[in-house]
Amino acid sequence: MPRKPDTPLVGGLVPFSTIDYPGQLAAVIFLQGCPWRCGYCHNPHLQSRGQPQYNWKQIIRFLHSRLGMLDAVVFSGGEPTADHCLLEAVKSVKKMGFLAGIHTAGAYPERLEKLLPYLDWVGLDIKAPFNSTYDRITTVAQSHRNALASLQRLLEQGGEFEVRTTLHPRLLSETDVLSIATTLASMGVKHYALQKFQPRDCINEQLNLNLPTCYPDENLLFQIKALFPDFTYR
Ligand code: SF4
Repeated sequence: MPRKPDTPLVGGLVPFSTIDYPGQLAAVIFLQGCPWRCGYCHNPHLQSRGQPQYNWKQIIRFLHSRLGMLDAVVFSGGEPTADHCLLEAVKSVKKMGFLAGIHTAGAYPERLEKLLPYLDWVGLDIKAPFNSTYDRITTVAQSHRNALASLQRLLEQGGEFEVRTTLHPRLLSETDVLSIATTLASMGVKHYALQKFQPRDCINEQLNLNLPTCYPDENLLFQIKALFPDFTYR
């Protein structure tokens, strides 16, 4: 059996971002690997693990050169919790003085739980109501259970996090969208974002379409906004 790598497999780096960690300037490190196969994935080249684009020493050197300029480091993917070196990587960037965040779809709730004490912020994708619609989007049976368990761990831990849902008319009806929002609000989610699907680099070409102007209905957005102390439509 091939030896597991002892540093994260980095498939990409955005050196400077104002949109990946709320209110902070961040570098975004993209890790390889994801157990799910969503048809609308914008980073399909990161779904499998293979030859990394950067080695971890290069990343640490880069971060040292940005001390005092950047506030935060965000681990994205792929699914960053798929990388068993993530915890050590998060600890390293914290030791350097950066805030640490992740973008996750919640595929590994136990790993997320272990990470939470070291994370300052989490962006969690909730893709659908917690039923078979979820599994149709990820194409993995029972994936909704892991997403729900991850959300429950975030709520129990009480740290800073945002939940986000990508809107796609072929995958989510407006009834689905309202059902997701109502469930999240009733569970105690405070920060919720609906994101418009962007038709670019989408692995399933049949999903590549511009959102119709009538989707989602404006009244639905008002209804959802009223459910959360903080709501974003982007
Ligand atoms: S969970 Fe995220 S990274 Fe994984 S396939 Fe779906 S969209 Fe892509």
